[in-house]
Amino acid sequence: MVKIVCPHCAADLEVPPSPIHTCDFCGTAIQVSQMLGPDGTNITGEKLTDEAKKTYIIKDHYIIRCHYNGQEAQSLMEDWIKKIPGAPQDFETSAMITSRELKFYPIWVGEYKASSSYVGLDNWPKFSHPAHDRPGWYEYVWYYKREEKGKIHREYQIPLMALSEKNIPKYLRNYTVTTTGKEYFDITHVKELGGKVIDSVYEFEEAKKWMFNSVLNRQAGEMRKEVVSITNRNDNVEEQDVFYIHFPVFEFKFTYNKKKYTAFIDGSSGRVIHIDVPISTKFRLATILTGAAHAIIGVGLFVAGIMVPAITFFGVSAGVGLFGTGMIFLSMNFRKGAQEKQT
Ligand SMILES: [Zn+2]
Repeated sequence: MVKIVCPHCAADLEVPPSPIHTCDFCGTAIQVSQMLGPDGTNITGEKLTDEAKKTYIIKDHYIIRCHYNGQEAQSLMEDWIKKIPGAPQDFETSAMITSRELKFYPIWVGEYKASSSYVGLDNWPKFSHPAHDRPGWYEYVWYYKREEKGKIHREYQIPLMALSEKNIPKYLRNYTVTTTGKEYFDITHVKELGGKVIDSVYEFEEAKKWMFNSVLNRQAGEMRKEVVSITNRNDNVEEQDVFYIHFPVFEFKFTYNKKKYTAFIDGSSGRVIHIDVPISTKFRLATILTGAAHAIIGVGLFVAGIMVPAITFFGVSAGVGLFGTGMIFLSMNFRKGAQEKQT
């Protein structure tokens, strides 16, 4: 932990030496690594000039508001689970919620305008030896490399989940956060709901560099749609805006039948990001028995079909069908979790 003074509200803070810390009192996103400098010495703030203070603050700090309280989010989860085939209908009474946390996770969003011109090589066909019998046909076709030039203009909105690979919950990695409803960051909103602010593992400059490179890669992707190899390129990438945004996620841990499960609910939309759905014992038993019965009869018919020529068609096709149905029933027992589809 290091001691710093918030450049905005002058509160004394003791923070982990991470790149960014959101002030617990005023909600300002402070660039801790900048304040500490390369030698890691503490800055007490007394001698800071206004100019220096500005450089220690992330100006465009936003929040996606959470529209559910913990109890509402829990009801959303319970209702959703009960709609899943095989999930326990007595979830409220039989499952035990062991923890319920609201976390505001960090994401960087950069907006860019990119114009690139490129020179590349593309495969072009060459035809020779017109066929005598078929007009318009050729006996030989081969490809040669032809130089092509072009320009690509695009606008991008690049998101960067600001959590380390290790600490980010697996199901959040590919989750698309809707950031259109962002508002200026408001620490009282977080406190009212008893939320916890998680801060970026990337420094501001690092995040910008990553997003900038991502723009270059996407432009290259566009070029490769036109040419097979790029021999020369010239990019002009304009950074429009870079936002540091916190978005709400409810994280539930619960036990059912002595097993542990986790659920993630988007606190802004109420969407289910991921739930490990428990399967009730009754459902498990029924599907295993039905599945096995289908599979056995299926195999029986299949074998009978092969051995008795008169019923081959019926036996084989019905056998395969029943076997497949059996497998579907059985596989319902092996699923690991479910999420709502993102559109
Ligand atoms: Zn502060």
